[in-house]
Parts: sequence; C-alpha cells; structure tokens
Amino acid sequence: MSLRWSDLWRDVAQTALRLVPWPTEPGLRSVGDPGPESPVVVTGNYDLTVRRLVRALRGVDAWIVVAASGGINVWCAASGGHLTTHQVVAALKTCGVEERVRHRRAVLPQLAATGVIGRDVSRRCGWKVRFGPARADDLPEYFANRDQKTDAMRRVRFGVVERLEMACTWAAPTAFLLAAAAAPFRPGWSIPLAGGATALSVALFLGYDRIPAPRRTLFAAGAAILAAVCVTLAGGGAPALATGVAAGLVLAAVLTYDYSGTTPIEGGSHFEERRWRIVLDPERCDGVFSCWEVCPEACFEKRQDPRRVEIAYHERCVRCGACVVQCPKDALSFNDADGRRIEPDVIRRFKLNLLGKRVVASPQGKQGQEEAGTR
Ligand code: SF4
Ligand code: SF4
Repeated sequence: MSLRWSDLWRDVAQTALRLVPWPTEPGLRSVGDPGPESPVVVTGNYDLTVRRLVRALRGVDAWIVVAASGGINVWCAASGGHLTTHQVVAALKTCGVEERVRHRRAVLPQLAATGVIGRDVSRRCGWKVRFGPARADDLPEYFANRDQKTDAMRRVRFGVVERLEMACTWAAPTAFLLAAAAAPFRPGWSIPLAGGATALSVALFLGYDRIPAPRRTLFAAGAAILAAVCVTLAGGGAPALATGVAAGLVLAAVLTYDYSGTTPIEGGSHFEERRWRIVLDPERCDGVFSCWEVCPEACFEKRQDPRRVEIAYHERCVRCGACVVQCPKDALSFNDADGRRIEPDVIRRFKLNLLGKRVVASPQGKQGQEEAGTR
C-alpha cells in the first residue's frame, strides 16, 4: 500500500497535534466500487480517522458515512458527548446513503459504544447497527468473516506503534511549550528541555506500565534523577540543578496524568471513578451479549446455561462504561468506593471532559458544571 506525501505529512502533523480537533467534512464517501448491497461503515469526522479508514478498506467496496464528531477521534468523541446516537442517526438520514443501498445495516466503530446507543439508532431511524472491530484495519477480515468479530478484534491493542504515536502526541506540545518558555530567559536550555520532554514521553509510553507500584512516584523520581545527572554532566551549578530537578518533576506530573484515558495503562481517570467497580446483576442479565461485544478489554465471558455473561477479568476494566451504556436490561452498573450503585442512566447521561471527569453535556454541546455521582 503506497502512502502519498500529502497523506504522510498530514499523518505526522495530526499525530503530533492530536490534542486539538482536526475536522473533515461530514457526509458520504465511497471506497472501491460500492453498490446497493455493499457494507456501510460509520465513523466520526476526525480527518486522521477517516483517511485511515479509507486506507484500511482498500480492496473492499464499501460506503463510509462520516458523522459529525467535532473533528475528534471516535473514542474521545463518544466518551465526551461529541459523537452520540443523535449524530449517527442524523448522518444516516441525511448523507444520501439511503438512496444508494437497498439494505439498512451499518457497522459502527466498537469504540463508539461509550456514547452511541446501538438499539436507539435502530429505533429512531430503522437502521440495524452492529459494533464492528476495535481497529479499522480488521474490517476487511471482519467482512470476510460475515460480520463476525474474533476475540482479537474486540480488544484494544496498545502495541509499540500505538505507544509511539501517543508519545509523539504528548512530546510535541510539551517540548514546544518548554522550549518556548525557556527561550526568552535561557535560550541554551530550550533544546535540552525539549529533548528531555521527548525522552520522558517515549519512556512513559514504552515502559510505564512495566514499572511496579507506586508508578507515578517512581517515574517522577526517575525523571528528577535523570535531570540532575544531565545538569551535573553539563557543568551546571546549584540553580541549574534545582531548576532541572523541578522541571523533571513537573514534566513527569504532566505526562503521567491520565487525561480522559489517553494512557490506557493507568486504567481510568484520577478522579473518584478510578475506584468504581463494574458489577453484574445476574437476575437481570438475559444473555444478549452486547457487553461482551463492545468491551475493549475483553472483561466478559459468555455462559450458556443459563445464558448470561460473567465478569471474568475485573482487573482489566478501564471503567470506559461501554458495557453499561449498551446493556438493554441495566444488568451492569458501577459501584463506587462505598459500594453504592451508580445507575446506568447516569453513565449514559454524563460525559467525560478532557480531564476524565464526568459532567453533564449541555444541549449546546458545551460541558455543564454538574458532576456525576451516586443518585
Ligand atoms: S449484562 Fe446486559 S448486555 Fe451483557 S449479556 Fe447481560 S443483558 Fe446482555
Ligand atoms: S467491563 Fe470495564 S472495560 Fe469493559 S466495557 Fe465495561 S467498563 Fe469498559
């Protein structure tokens, strides 16, 4: 597969500046030579996502419905209230795909399950939606398997490439800000500080989850020691040493903060949600398996007699809420640290802001001030 230069520079720029929205025009796209029976794939209008989806579908004849998601990637947009049931229904009804296909079946990205309620899309516009694989690259195999996901397709992978991408996403703004802050006072420190930010970002994403607890403290201590060694080798005096150690500690604090799950290795935000525990009411469960279908960490196992699920891997849960949002029986919910049940509707209604805190999204789409808790 060849990658054009114009695509390559956009990939690099959008990876480095992933923290800001990068919208593309919502509407209908086509890949290959799709016809009235070709599959329909829905995604958000983040430019990088749409271009990657087009690349992943090369060799497949398909329609792509790009729904408005505020120019944000699917997982963040769905968790933050920018890609919702309403956006998907609106896109399916207005983009013109209904005039081009005879069926009414659409594949949603699995990671949209935190914000798009599949059964509500069907109820509101007549389209039957399924959550496809977690990664667009698996779509050709998914279609070849007659729309069946393998276990590997359901799990979010965080391999070396994804880790380096996230390192780049955090290194670019922190390195730039540090270099810009130092430039007017100590121009000679700009490049070492930018280099330090980049090195710490790469170290964080490649190895942070392999550091034993307490990770944040050990990582911060490592950053401070590294800064002290570098300043000493460079012949800096006491003020430079103190500044270097402080910069290392601040950098470590900024980088290890779990901004709404950008570091899935931490398993949830730094707010009270990190102590929430997913619980199943077996009496309500009737074995629809929507939870099993959308869980990005494969926490569930199917049981057949009686037909229901079991939360087999509690420790994997990152508290994304996808299973709670999708369960038609409200059989799944979170319990807070005191064991109080947080009703599923609270999870459906409250969205994550950038810092990973649940707040109510106002009708205008701006974040309200009300905070989620037990009701
Ligand atoms: S917990 Fe809910 S979504 Fe999961 S199998 Fe039971 S009823 Fe279905
Ligand atoms: S079990 Fe945890 S990780 Fe899996 S979908 Fe539910 S909240 Fe998300």
